[in-house]
Amino acid sequence: MTALVVGAGPAGLMAAEQLLQAGFDVTVCDAMPSPGRKFLLAGIGGLNLTHSEATSDFLARYEDAADWLRPQLDVFGAEALRAWAAGLGVETFVGSSGRVFPAGMKAAPLLRRWLQRLRGQGMQLLTRHRWQGDLARDGSDWLLGFATPDGTTSLQARVVVLALGGGSWARLGSDGAWLPWLADRGVSVTSLRAANCGFEADWSEVLTRRAGEPLKNVSLSLPWLAGTRERRGECILTRDGLEGGLIYAHARAIRERIEACGRAVITLDLLPDRSLATLGAALDKAAAGKAGLTRSRLWQRAGLDGVKSALLEEVWRQPDTSSWLQAQGLAGMPVLRQQAALCKMLPVTLSATRPLDEAISTAGGISRAALDSGLMLNALPGVFCAGEMLDWEAPTGGYLLTACFASGRRAGEGAVQWLQHGGVA
Ligand SMILES: Cc1cc2nc3c(=O)[nH]c(=O)nc-3n(C[C@H](O)[C@H](O)[C@H](O)COP(=O)(O)OP(=O)(O)OC[C@H]3O[C@@H](n4cnc5c(N)ncnc54)[C@H](O)[C@@H]3O)c2cc1C
Repeated sequence: MTALVVGAGPAGLMAAEQLLQAGFDVTVCDAMPSPGRKFLLAGIGGLNLTHSEATSDFLARYEDAADWLRPQLDVFGAEALRAWAAGLGVETFVGSSGRVFPAGMKAAPLLRRWLQRLRGQGMQLLTRHRWQGDLARDGSDWLLGFATPDGTTSLQARVVVLALGGGSWARLGSDGAWLPWLADRGVSVTSLRAANCGFEADWSEVLTRRAGEPLKNVSLSLPWLAGTRERRGECILTRDGLEGGLIYAHARAIRERIEACGRAVITLDLLPDRSLATLGAALDKAAAGKAGLTRSRLWQRAGLDGVKSALLEEVWRQPDTSSWLQAQGLAGMPVLRQQAALCKMLPVTLSATRPLDEAISTAGGISRAALDSGLMLNALPGVFCAGEMLDWEAPTGGYLLTACFASGRRAGEGAVQWLQHGGVA
């Protein structure tokens, strides 16, 4: 065969589409019984396909990888992706947050129509074919070994696109097993780490009873990063720590702090709409003439809900807190004054990311230096890579899928050029 694409997620299918449109015969293999499983899962959460913000803001979401991804996103960014979906008969709309979703907010109709079109263009799809890392030269072809339900098989192709995804949600097919296989062949890689993930905190048994409850309308800041914007949103208390949109938005900075210092102390403002002065006045009012009220009742009357109040008490009881209060010049003040200050600037210690398998996406992977501008591996001429297996990361908001589609397209175009020039870069 001419072209073999391994991995039938958004990146692999997009690469296949470029090769098919250029008239090459293409076989796509996937380890799973059906294609696009993670894409379909993303659809269960609403399928945030891309984002409508200005191009410069959009690019900035990829931080140090923005320069690398710019040429890919210039060709196939948010607008082009929306036009492509429309070409499949799936219109998109911009939600109130600027995020872009397909009408119906599902992935299944888009994937179904896309697969139908690809099959119509001649794509062969081999499911339950798990590449096992064998990759050998056979003349000007590559020979790859696969595990199948019937044993093993080899497939031979002039050009190969690997689009094997990251290392999270392994049960959907992407398990990151490819990383050492490519590293052993001289491909520069960085270890896979959790991105857009939850973090661990050492909660008491009392607090874990509230696991699953949301901390609504809180503001989060990162004291070690001067000048970073405080963000407001919601996070969820879990048995092991914290997760949710607000945490994911800061996940890279928190993970890097933990990597550097062994832990990250974030600060939460549990009542961001109230100043310390108004909060103090509300507590005084709640306490006036009610000597028998428990602290949690007082806090409730001052507007702090049950889960926030439990978190405040948890941090209040931690051994580090008294030195923190001392450092803030609050030691010796009445307890409620100290707690009010704590409520506005609650230090929460996070000790580790939750395991990679639970993360929404993966950081790390194939380094930029390992690839040419067409996303071909310098160490393995004729082998191209795309999608989440490349070493970039981005927050949620549609940036993940957009970069997977864009890099899939670039790798597909690179493979077309490689074939058209007779195997010369
Ligand atoms: C719960 C959840 C929700 C998400 N929601 C969104 C969202 O709304 N918006 C957004 O932008 N992103 C979202 N994402 C992220 C997005 O789904 C991924 O970034 C994207 O699917 C990655 O595309 P990919 O093609 O690189 O890899 P994948 O989609 O992971 O596809 C890789 C394919 O390769 C196959 N494969 C792996 N190893 C082998 C092997 N050895 N042999 C053969 N086949 C193999 C796998 O079976 C898989 O089908 C979400 C992720 C999760 C987990």
